[in-house]
Amino acid sequence: MAFERSTSTPLDFDTAGGHERLGAMPMDARQGIPGVRVNPDKSADSPPAAAAGGGLGNTAKSVRQTQSEKERVRHLQTHFGKTAAQEKREQRFKHQRAAARLLPSSRTAQCLWSVASNCNGVDVIHNEAEGRARYAGLQTCGSVWSCPVCSAKVSEIRRQELNDALAVARQKGLIPVLVSLTTRHKRGDSLASLLASLKKAKQRWANHRGFASLRSKNGGPLVGYITATEVTGGGVNGWHPHFHILMFFQCATEAEAIAKAETLRGPWLAGLKSEGLSGTGAAFDVQGGSAAGNYITKWGAAEEVALGGKKKGRGDGRAPFQLLADYADNDDKQAGALFAEYAKEFAGYRQLVWSPGLKALFCIEDIADAKAAADEVRRADESKAEAQVGHFTPIEWGRYRSQRAMILRMAELAGAMGVDAAVQAIRNLKAQTVGGMGGTPMSAVAQPVPPASPPCNPQGSQDTKV
Ligand SMILES: [Zn+2]
Repeated sequence: MAFERSTSTPLDFDTAGGHERLGAMPMDARQGIPGVRVNPDKSADSPPAAAAGGGLGNTAKSVRQTQSEKERVRHLQTHFGKTAAQEKREQRFKHQRAAARLLPSSRTAQCLWSVASNCNGVDVIHNEAEGRARYAGLQTCGSVWSCPVCSAKVSEIRRQELNDALAVARQKGLIPVLVSLTTRHKRGDSLASLLASLKKAKQRWANHRGFASLRSKNGGPLVGYITATEVTGGGVNGWHPHFHILMFFQCATEAEAIAKAETLRGPWLAGLKSEGLSGTGAAFDVQGGSAAGNYITKWGAAEEVALGGKKKGRGDGRAPFQLLADYADNDDKQAGALFAEYAKEFAGYRQLVWSPGLKALFCIEDIADAKAAADEVRRADESKAEAQVGHFTPIEWGRYRSQRAMILRMAELAGAMGVDAAVQAIRNLKAQTVGGMGGTPMSAVAQPVPPASPPCNPQGSQDTKV
């Protein structure tokens, strides 16, 4: 464990000086680690200020003797405000645990929560140059649909790929056009049946002779396209699944490209009809290059909006991660049920699909979601500025993981000493809480190794870095 291994000291607070300094912690404070669990799962990844404040206060005798718990928390918050990135990570972790409650048998429920191997435990890795810490040795899910943590990482990669595609297309003299496809829908429609019918309609559309005649392989101007599948829910008209298709045309002008895309309106409406769906004018939409650029710029923005806690108007449809945020932050149970329904239906689908040969034509590497979710780490690894600043055995991780955001924040603040202080803070908070619960013996509430953790399997640790 970090605070046992390290011979350095945790944080101390020089309250008289009005600023933090690093000070010594008595060695006896590091003995007798209680294996206690006082945080129910529901509170996992909740704002950790109280935990941090409690522990840090106990590392300094003078502070412990003169300040109440509340004062120590206030002091910590004053001196160590979270950065925007830390705030977002904390929110994502919190929302991820909310997704785990809704989807207990999903891989997302284990993501950055369960160890990848009972042999190795969990490392805290600090990249001082980038001011960022992370864990290594945990399972990751790579789900763009249900995991706010993995989705954020994959979105960053996908946005870059889309931007690269736009840049390459312009270099090649191609004209981008954004086509949007949907259908009429109403409250009470099942997402499963709506999505299945819509996908069949799109297949019919793609197989239509009008579409085939546009393809460049058949002598037409349509060089390739990228299809994104999206959905919003919880609005007055129920689920709203839709496709955005970024098309690249070899045409002289944008107006000509838009006119070519417009020829696909009839086939789309016919495809809807064949699947028992109905379309109005809004079911098919074509916009030019600036709309395509805006769409790419905003890629992943719905997830960002969810973190910001921005409320949507009553009756508006909400993006899935906004539904999850409303469940996690506002206890909106209906939003939680909608998110669970959505996650079940979208699991296994690809979020972005490139037409055959387009990635090769644009010289863009094919990266799977799971790999994209870990790509940030690889880039960070390449900076060669990382250091291991803490380690948890699997059993220890089970005790401390509910404060995983705070541990990373403290690692970013002070490396190994920060991890030590975080661990001490959690120990103290748990000890106090247990005391407040009537003095339950610590051994009686010891937390076992997470049951989802796999057996010792060194090969399983390959994709564990996040
Ligand atoms: Zn994940």
